[in-house]
Amino acid sequence: MAAPTVGVLALQGDVVEHLRALRRSGARTREVRTPEDLAAVDALVVPGGESTTVIRLLERFGLVEPIRERVRAGMPFWGTCMGMIVAAHDVADLEQDTLDLIDITVRRNAFGRQVDSAEVPLDIPALGNPPFPAVFIRAPWIERAGPDVTSLASRDGHGVMVRQANVLGTSFHPELTGDDRVHAYFLEMLAGAAGDEVIARR
Ligand code: GLN
Repeated sequence: MAAPTVGVLALQGDVVEHLRALRRSGARTREVRTPEDLAAVDALVVPGGESTTVIRLLERFGLVEPIRERVRAGMPFWGTCMGMIVAAHDVADLEQDTLDLIDITVRRNAFGRQVDSAEVPLDIPALGNPPFPAVFIRAPWIERAGPDVTSLASRDGHGVMVRQANVLGTSFHPELTGDDRVHAYFLEMLAGAAGDEVIARR
């Protein structure tokens, strides 16, 4: 099978780093700005950035419903930091509507302000050893997770990596480290998408 094409939402945020990490991991990539772009990809990554801005831009660019439809039909989706906020069912401290793709409630900037951004060795059993160098930048944490959500990693007692069927969320930024194991994990989700029993539960 030809390499899948992974789209990276390119309205705002650290798009280039994701494109590079995905290509290093063997995927083709495409920047996604329009519904036409979205129709041409097999999966979508939403990078880090500013959630309030990106939610507004998603509406302006007519991407909210097309993304919801694709993801609900099984398209793999991964949100990093801002991307996870945008995908959450709801956000503790935000009035705007989100995409509501994964049954979690997140709190923005939960680990502290910009000065408190940090790289921490994170134990992610699904990725094995060594611990993952997780970069947190004004990162959200997960305050509530529904019964269909699997926690893949936590920091200070709060979930920071979660998966519900075809939707993956990380509070941190694997695209900024040069360690491509989470990108490889996401590409494995794509490879397994058709037969994944968790998807059948959606
Ligand atoms: N604090 C940002 C927000 O609320 C997210 C930061 C990030 O993506 N690094 O949107």
